[in-house]
Amino acid sequence: MIKNVGGTEIKAKHRASCHCGAVVLELDLPDGIVDPRRCDCSICRRRGAIVASVPLSGISIVQGQDVLALYEFNTHTAKHYFCSRCGIYTHHQRRSNPNQFGYNVGCLEGVNPFDLGDVPTNDGVNHPADRL
Ligand SMILES: [Zn+2]
Repeated sequence: MIKNVGGTEIKAKHRASCHCGAVVLELDLPDGIVDPRRCDCSICRRRGAIVASVPLSGISIVQGQDVLALYEFNTHTAKHYFCSRCGIYTHHQRRSNPNQFGYNVGCLEGVNPFDLGDVPTNDGVNHPADRL
């Protein structure tokens, strides 16, 4: 359970924002940052973000719903959201577990994801949803 990153305390309700500030999210993080990881699937390898998990009820959009853009590909199961102004990925509804959002740890207020040190890399090339 990660409740402090580089001196920034992870609050039970922690704000996150895109780069330009148009999109602001409030995340329910009673257990801090849960399961942070990288992934080498075709989209994650390009965006490079460290992603952590919350249940679908764990994200509320405080502002910027109108500028959030949706990107879908392949099976169109995962919903990838990003700010249409600054292009920053904020969160996505998972394909591997549609009951969860992944979110961009680098968007958390006051958090430098490099302070997490090494995080596991998910095997996104062999996607869990493609394994029989
Ligand atoms: Zn933005």
